[in-house]
Amino acid sequence: MHIAYLSAGSNLGDRRHNLKSALKRMDGAGTVRATSSLFETEPVGLRDQPWFLNLAFELATGLPAEGLLRFCQTTEVRLGRIRTFRNAPRTVDLDLLFFDDDVINEPDLTVPHPRMGQRRFVLVPLAEIAPGLRHPVSKLTIREMLQRCEDPSEVRPYDWADG
Ligand code: ADP
Ligand code: MG
Repeated sequence: MHIAYLSAGSNLGDRRHNLKSALKRMDGAGTVRATSSLFETEPVGLRDQPWFLNLAFELATGLPAEGLLRFCQTTEVRLGRIRTFRNAPRTVDLDLLFFDDDVINEPDLTVPHPRMGQRRFVLVPLAEIAPGLRHPVSKLTIREMLQRCEDPSEVRPYDWADG
């Protein structure tokens, strides 16, 4: 069994429904053992697009990392994601943040996720469920990564029950 941490985001259509459906589908890859609360986040990169809802979750899985990435990509497509251009709005984006303590540098898969340290929308939810988790290369905990993160973009709590 492996322990993976993933980030899920949506800024198109019914964002909460998209994230709920994504979490439900991830049960097909293993067991979702922890889920952060929900955050509404300012788009980073391409700024002229709707705000995102983001969360992070922990998954126990028997799949290898590559298999988990493919499962995530299939899930994105099933939930209606159409790849147009980089950073485009999406119904669901699933990113693999950590996979055990593995360090992976394949053409289609980099783990730990290389941009997570510069993204508050990843670190804030992840810090809720795994504050003491250590990055296998920098050895920083998620809490420490968040303290050092210079991303100024807004990440605010969002109630699952909100409209
Ligand atoms: P982004 O998440 O950066 O906005 P995409 O979801 O479109 O962009 O992913 C682009 C590519 O990133 C995918 O084709 C995938 O192979 C690659 N990739 C590399 N490492 C990872 C990772 N850790 N998690 C998810 N995708 C990754
Ligand atoms: Mg992605």
